[in-house]
Amino acid sequence: MSGHPSAAAPGGRAQPFSCPYCGEEDLRPAEGGHHCPDCDRRFALTFLGRGAGERHPTRSTTTGGTV
Ligand SMILES: [Zn+2]
Repeated sequence: MSGHPSAAAPGGRAQPFSCPYCGEEDLRPAEGGHHCPDCDRRFALTFLGRGAGERHPTRSTTTGGTV
């Protein structure tokens, strides 16, 4: 039964607000993602998961810690 309206979680794709390369806001859906007509780049956003992830770099520049 698939009678629920799509209002809960946007699964999969996300709509970028602007081009990550030139900042153009007039993005258009294209094959595999979005196309920026201004810089003529095509890109896609990938949802990797929530949180910072487990495999973060160990050398974090945390100032004010135990030396
Ligand atoms: Zn662009």
